Amino acid sequence: MADSKLYEILGVGRTASDGEIKKAYHKLAKEFHPDKNPAAGDKFKEISFAYEVLSDPKKRATYDRHGLKALKEGGHDGPGFGTDDFFSQLFGGGLFGMGGLSGGGVRNRRHRGEDTVHPLKVSLEDLYNGKSTRLQLSKNVICATCNGKGSKSGAPHACRACRGSGMRVTFRQLGPGLTQQMQSQCRDCAGEGEVIHDKDRCPKCHGKKVINETKILEVHVDKGMREGQKIFFRGEGDQQPDIEPGDVVIVLHQKPHEKYKRSGNDLVMSHTVTLTEALCGFEMVLKHLDGRELLIKHPCGKVIKPGDLKGIEGEGMPHYRNPFEKGDLYIKFDVKFPENAKDIKLKELELLFPTRAALVKPEDHEDVDMSEYDPNDHGAGGSGRQEAYVSDDEHSGGPGGIQCAHQ
Ligand SMILES: [Zn+2]
Ligand SMILES: [Zn+2]
Repeated sequence: MADSKLYEILGVGRTASDGEIKKAYHKLAKEFHPDKNPAAGDKFKEISFAYEVLSDPKKRATYDRHGLKALKEGGHDGPGFGTDDFFSQLFGGGLFGMGGLSGGGVRNRRHRGEDTVHPLKVSLEDLYNGKSTRLQLSKNVICATCNGKGSKSGAPHACRACRGSGMRVTFRQLGPGLTQQMQSQCRDCAGEGEVIHDKDRCPKCHGKKVINETKILEVHVDKGMREGQKIFFRGEGDQQPDIEPGDVVIVLHQKPHEKYKRSGNDLVMSHTVTLTEALCGFEMVLKHLDGRELLIKHPCGKVIKPGDLKGIEGEGMPHYRNPFEKGDLYIKFDVKFPENAKDIKLKELELLFPTRAALVKPEDHEDVDMSEYDPNDHGAGGSGRQEAYVSDDEHSGGPGGIQCAHQ
């Protein structure tokens, strides 16, 4: 069946000449221009689109031969031609009645079943290395015994009560010449529009037209996929007669990793070094998500301070669909200070450090006591101002006293 919708929009025949098409377009465009006829809605867009196609010999030939769908598929090379967006608007938004499209393959949302969504828990290792997993799910498939008819005979059984519509209209006399029309779901067929007699029921599906089956899907988690990313299995959703099945949608959920946090394509981890390591350098072995052992060296004399951030290029997550490219790995350092310094020969140690700046005590000074302070312990804090000051210091991170001693 040839598609002549665009000709119909312009009100011309399939054999119309270029001149006739142009004339028809100008006449309609004037009439339905949104400035003049705002109530016409999308009519003007339809007219413009039809003219755009039919005034171009190449596009017109494609359309004549293969219909609208071919224009969509081959439309990218033509200059000034509608973009994908326009097409999705055209097809999805219903500018043209769906019945008018002769091309197959156009997905009509209304005749499509629901998508089935399944969460899939994956580890960060899975997202780094990629993984294939088999997912078992149950789904409804069209009964093969009755081909989805629900009956042995296969004969249609339109419900007599509603004549197959599934709805019943009843009239109620309210008064002389006054009736009320009421519509309700047909009780005989529960709104299905058809009834299958007990004797004729399909023995396999008992007239339900579908049977439940266990299906195994092979899910490929690609390197670099992310939390919340969806993997689609087109048309693997529940089957129903006369309805295009929906998709099975697998949604990835990453289990938290004990060591690494992901930030885009980068990995972030925390590592605590001792004061000795912070001052004198260190080496550490880091097990990566693919099992490699990375030897990380930090030279003596380059002091690590609490909160320092260091990066290792190219040791982050692989980029999705480009797994040879990788993000970076960041290590956030903390320094563990000795709990008790009594065992450290501090006097001797001080001799090794740069000397302190001499303190000039003002003539008129006041001695005060400094004690342990717990910001959570409100009773011991003194005035509110003091509290705010101290907790401020807490947030800026780390004991400042040690750093002073280094200067
Ligand atoms: Zn059956
Ligand atoms: Zn009925």
